[in-house]
Amino acid sequence: MIAQLAPATAAQLDAADPLAAFRQEFHLPPGPDGQPCAYFCGNSLGLQPKTARAAVEQEFEAWERFGVEGHFQAPSFWMNYHDTLTEAAARVVGALPIEVVVMNSLTVNLHLLLVSFYRPTGSRYRILMEGGAFPSDQYAIESQARLHGLDPAEAIVELVPRPGEYTLRTADIEAKIAELGDSLATILIGGVNYYTGQAFDMAAITRAGHAVGALVGFDLAHAAGNLEMHLHDWDVDFACWCSYKYLNSGPGGTSGAFVHERFAHRPDLVRLAGWWGHDPSERFQMKKGFRPMPGAAGWQLSNAQIFPMAIHRASLELVDRAGGMAALRRKSKQLTAHLETLVRALALPSTQLEIITPADPAQRGCQLSVLVHQRGRELFDYLAAQGIIADWREPNVIRLAPVPLYNSFGDVQRVGEALARFFSEQLVVNS
Ligand SMILES: *Cc1c(COP(=O)(O)O)cnc(C)c1O
Repeated sequence: MIAQLAPATAAQLDAADPLAAFRQEFHLPPGPDGQPCAYFCGNSLGLQPKTARAAVEQEFEAWERFGVEGHFQAPSFWMNYHDTLTEAAARVVGALPIEVVVMNSLTVNLHLLLVSFYRPTGSRYRILMEGGAFPSDQYAIESQARLHGLDPAEAIVELVPRPGEYTLRTADIEAKIAELGDSLATILIGGVNYYTGQAFDMAAITRAGHAVGALVGFDLAHAAGNLEMHLHDWDVDFACWCSYKYLNSGPGGTSGAFVHERFAHRPDLVRLAGWWGHDPSERFQMKKGFRPMPGAAGWQLSNAQIFPMAIHRASLELVDRAGGMAALRRKSKQLTAHLETLVRALALPSTQLEIITPADPAQRGCQLSVLVHQRGRELFDYLAAQGIIADWREPNVIRLAPVPLYNSFGDVQRVGEALARFFSEQLVVNS
């Protein structure tokens, strides 16, 4: 694959790209020279779809025109607004519609799901997570352990790579799960680690977790809109994700949650409840006694956040128009392979620069994390000055995420050439 890509020019690859036209559907921020930047930060905040503004304006107009009656009279029917997102969101993660709901924001959903799916009992009380997880996940899990009166240091088990390695081996994860055995209540791992870009084998982890009687969930913040997933078929118990990274739905945008179908008709499951998760046929009777809706919708708390949801709807439409995750992933693998080829062509010693993201395309999404041992910050600033927007993570990692909806092979070429210039200038300076 890599060998095939190397001789082709970026222009040829862009000309052959069936998704090339989707770049025009987004606002590309200008670089220092006023020309569109090469944006590699879709893993942090995806770009604005041009359709987003009109989608929000439509709701402003409905509010202006109908006031409270907008709940029923707005063309988008606010009462059931979240329903209009369910099917498209379910397609993104490979789920049945009853398994998915769009609501709240990510860390809130993480807590709601952990309340139901981390239920430590006497001897089965541990929760397994990846070491170096995104801080919000660390804090959420730590506070969930405390909620149950447990010492986080006892209850939380972290997976760490072998000495000298940056990422986790699936076999080591499976072995750890087997070792924890019936002390393990729940597994909560990122679908893709935000720092290394490693994509985990969610099917294998779920199987291993179920084999010891644990519940298995994933934080898909860096996986949703990035990987092709089959949460239902993989038998995952629960998951949540945000919409503002690879799903381009705006800063602080709404979140998605997944609860496997086997829990769809379990009103007995402990949960934190609110009126929007109540049986809609009697929601407005304002009666006592919570009766959850079937499926993930039964975890809703509040009435729909129309404005962020309007952006999300516009964005999900683009994913569908592009042919869904299979089509996006096809291009994504090519883009990332091209980037990898250009970085490897620098032929720098690993004491200077290393790609810490796995080389196996099945173990990564679009992101490559480049560990720069010397002058990393300087390199990052050099890229920024040329209109190349990457992302810096302390102490010395540059993350580059070419995303298939709006990045071109030309963008990748641009960063490859800038890297080559930086390191050749540096050689001159050093010699
Ligand atoms: C981006 C990200 C978050 C952010 O959480 P919010 O609640 O949306 O602020 C949490 N967890 C992971 C793994 C992330 O990548």
